[in-house]
Amino acid sequence: MYLGVRTAIQHMIDHELSARTEGVHDFLWRHLPWHTRAELPREFLEHSGIHPGGDLYQVMDSSGSWLYQAPSMTRLQIPGELPDSSRPPRYMTIERQGNDLRVLSSTVEVSKKYYSVQVATVVNPLYAVLSRFKWIVLAILPFVLLIAGMGGYWLSGRAMKPVYDIASTAHGISEQNLSKRLAVPLADDELRHLSETLNAMLIRLEGAFRRITQFTADASHELRTPVAVIRTTSELILERHRPVEEYEEMVRKILVESEITTELIENLLTLARADANATQINLLPVDMCDVVREAILGAQLLAERRKLEFSSSMEPEELIVLADKQSLRRLIVVLLDNAIKYTAPGGSVHLALKSNATQAVLEVKDTGIGIASEDLPHIFDRFYRAANARNLDVDGSGLGLPIAQWIASMHYANIEVISVLGQGSAFQVTVPLDDSGVIKFDTLRSTVSR
Ligand code: ADP
Repeated sequence: MYLGVRTAIQHMIDHELSARTEGVHDFLWRHLPWHTRAELPREFLEHSGIHPGGDLYQVMDSSGSWLYQAPSMTRLQIPGELPDSSRPPRYMTIERQGNDLRVLSSTVEVSKKYYSVQVATVVNPLYAVLSRFKWIVLAILPFVLLIAGMGGYWLSGRAMKPVYDIASTAHGISEQNLSKRLAVPLADDELRHLSETLNAMLIRLEGAFRRITQFTADASHELRTPVAVIRTTSELILERHRPVEEYEEMVRKILVESEITTELIENLLTLARADANATQINLLPVDMCDVVREAILGAQLLAERRKLEFSSSMEPEELIVLADKQSLRRLIVVLLDNAIKYTAPGGSVHLALKSNATQAVLEVKDTGIGIASEDLPHIFDRFYRAANARNLDVDGSGLGLPIAQWIASMHYANIEVISVLGQGSAFQVTVPLDDSGVIKFDTLRSTVSR
């Protein structure tokens, strides 16, 4: 502000000096031709009275003699200058007898003759105003800074409030209240975006947390039944002496329940490791026909025991896919076990292995109880068992298909189901062949630990 005012005042002074020079120039034009040199000072003096403060000037001709020198100029001893048409007008500030003077020296031309015109003005009063203004500014400055600081603090506090709100809400969110959400500011700005992103993350975390809690609850529930059977049977054994056959029967029951428990724990472990990405699956070229043959061996026995007709067909002699042999066998066994489990005696189960240009296609078809259309979207969910399956007297925990699907995903394979309630089901697995482009790409990825 101070510099601005100072520059404005200096401009104003210089402008006035320049206007006064113009006035003198004009005066010379009008009066020089008509007056003798002796008459001129009186004319000049009259001219000086036109403007207040306009008497500070002097005019010199090219011979160095004064055309006019105002009495106050004589008193202030401002040195004269010979006219020089090549010299541009020159401003200077000088000090005389305790006064600050601003002087403009310029050369003007009248009737082909050059004259040096010097006009001056006392600038002390203006500089005094300027100096007072400077002190006022300096005196006000601390208050202005204080008010600006306080205002800034208040404003930044207001601007940061949503951030503090978000932080304090986020601070209070734990596993106990994962359903809590951050307030979304009304303004469409970065904070709103941040709140929405964090809320989306909370939704994902809540979902994952709920799935884990549900998984733990379901797992405990499933384990409780066989463990309870083992415990009560053992208590019965110890209760009193019994005939050997009764003991044998009861111990066999314990054995069966132990096997069920072991299988359940193994399945749970498989899924827990899968979730933690802790299972290493090495994809190597294997003959899928071999894997299917191995899986069939156990299935044939089971089918015989349940009085089912079991058949299989394998079109190609050899089908090389990139797979982890044990896992692939486990997938096929899950499908065969289910087909056998959920088909009543007298029904049939058929396995077919075919191939097209890029894929091995395995189909397990049964004439069993089928799956209701409302159950179909859920059969790959953990612990899900359709009502018609639960009503049957067969073991099951609802973990077979989730494991099968996880194995399929590890092999870049796909499982599809077609089923009609009461008529039967067909599960189809498609595994990419080793010599396809997809497999070559996958070979590279299979070296990465998953
Ligand atoms: P489970 O141990 O119950 O067999 P799965 O995960 O293997 O668990 O299967 C989930 C559910 O899918 C079964 O409980 C059953 O309802 C249904 N399911 C699977 N395979 C068949 C099939 N071949 N026929 C009829 N229902 C089936």
